[in-house]
Amino acid sequence: MRQSQMLINGEQVASLSGKVEVIKNPANQEPVAEVSVGGREDARLALQAAEQAFPVWSETPSQKRAKILHAAADLVRTRAEEIARLLTLEQGKPLKNARMEVLSAADALDYYAEEGKRNFGEWITSSQSRSIVLRQPVGVAALITPWNFPVDLLAWKVGPALAAGCTFVAKPPSAAPLAATEFVRAVNDAGLPPGAANVVHGPGGEVGAELVENPISRKIAFTGETKTGRWIMAHAAGQIKRISLELGGQSPFIVCPDADLEKAAAACAQRAFSNMGQICMSVNRVYVADEVAEEFTEKLVQRTEQLRIGNGMEPDVDLGPMFSEAMREKTREHVADALARGAELLYGGREPEGAAFARGFFFLPTILSGADHSMKVMREETFGPVAPIMQFKKLEEAVFLANDTEYGLAAYVFTSDLKTALYASERLEAGSIGVNVNSVVDMQAPFGGWKQSGLGRELGHHGLEAYLETKHIRLGN
Ligand code: NDP
Repeated sequence: MRQSQMLINGEQVASLSGKVEVIKNPANQEPVAEVSVGGREDARLALQAAEQAFPVWSETPSQKRAKILHAAADLVRTRAEEIARLLTLEQGKPLKNARMEVLSAADALDYYAEEGKRNFGEWITSSQSRSIVLRQPVGVAALITPWNFPVDLLAWKVGPALAAGCTFVAKPPSAAPLAATEFVRAVNDAGLPPGAANVVHGPGGEVGAELVENPISRKIAFTGETKTGRWIMAHAAGQIKRISLELGGQSPFIVCPDADLEKAAAACAQRAFSNMGQICMSVNRVYVADEVAEEFTEKLVQRTEQLRIGNGMEPDVDLGPMFSEAMREKTREHVADALARGAELLYGGREPEGAAFARGFFFLPTILSGADHSMKVMREETFGPVAPIMQFKKLEEAVFLANDTEYGLAAYVFTSDLKTALYASERLEAGSIGVNVNSVVDMQAPFGGWKQSGLGRELGHHGLEAYLETKHIRLGN
């Protein structure tokens, strides 16, 4: 069986305890690889390696850092097929989506290679003195990531961290560490000094906690559940550690009476169900104007019927299995709760039938109508393939409902009127608004949450700033 070890100080190493775990394919439960499982002591060794590499990497000129990051992007592209196959095998997503994820991770390295060169300072003069303002790397960064996009979400951190001059220790998700580890290995192989890039496997409560609490790490960049984000924020507080938190979402999708319904239905089906709804900016709540509700719902069901579900390694599959039985059980529970409270099941709501699905965590994409805010699907993050529909009369009401949540990551509005789009966009409480578009991710623009969806921003130049400290040098006359 394939072995996956950790990466510490430029070397592939087993954990100090020698413990290993088997990673299984969520499509059929077959073993994929054996992974080395570390603990607090392994995390400490990785942090020490990153600390030793920091002076070397942070003093490497940004032009040279950019060359290495471009080389890393090329190496990730060269190894993309292998990394993508591992990603599908451990996470379940269709291979075409896994390829896109890995290639997009390479693009993030290219983007930050260039953005790092633009880390300019300032020169300020006054009558008494001159001031120089420098933007310097914050130090060793701990990068902690979830299983739904284990490569991309890590690349959003690795790129800016290295471009800023930081060294890092990554902690991939325990149940899907393979592709992320191979991604960092490719980055390391591109010519980084030993110890600049490290990966430690192991439980969040041990390895993750050590990365948060150990004073060697000066910055925590975390993507994951809001509950874990709260824990990290509380435990980083003792050292006033820099933190970036990308947390859960409960994204609304508003369909106005003047929307292009064909386009809106296609966009909604894709964003509600791709990656089996296991995306932080998935469509979680659909608000449709009364006058177009019937037509929109029909189109949404038609679009959904066309989605092909199966083992992600098969060609032409649109949806793979869910990541785990726990995720599937939560989805079942949320659907049952909605039905018990009066929702109507229009599509899905159960596992697909047939021998091909018997051993995997499959679940049909699910559409519910008659949803309201008493239901869990409308209040909690389902993180599953469920699109609950609720009707509204006036846009003000839709915006109010959309904001009636503790989350604020993304929101979507479909309309053909600019005034309506601006009215809603300016009032929706979310870090990103998609107007007539179902993705709010753009490498050059900031991504992050309002309210309990997070703190700080990734992507764009904002993503680089998260790894920099400001220093003022005052020169006397
Ligand atoms: P978790 O919060 O459970 O885990 C995320 C990572 O944190 C894992 O590597 C986990 O390790 C680690 N971890 C767990 N406990 C601790 C701890 N005490 N200290 C440090 N690290 C810890 O999230 P999931 O993996 O379940 O991911 C799903 C969640 O991620 C959803 O809520 C989703 O909305 C959110 N997400 C947010 C995004 C955003 O950009 N806002 C994007 C994508 C997902 P281990 O695997 O060992 O438990």
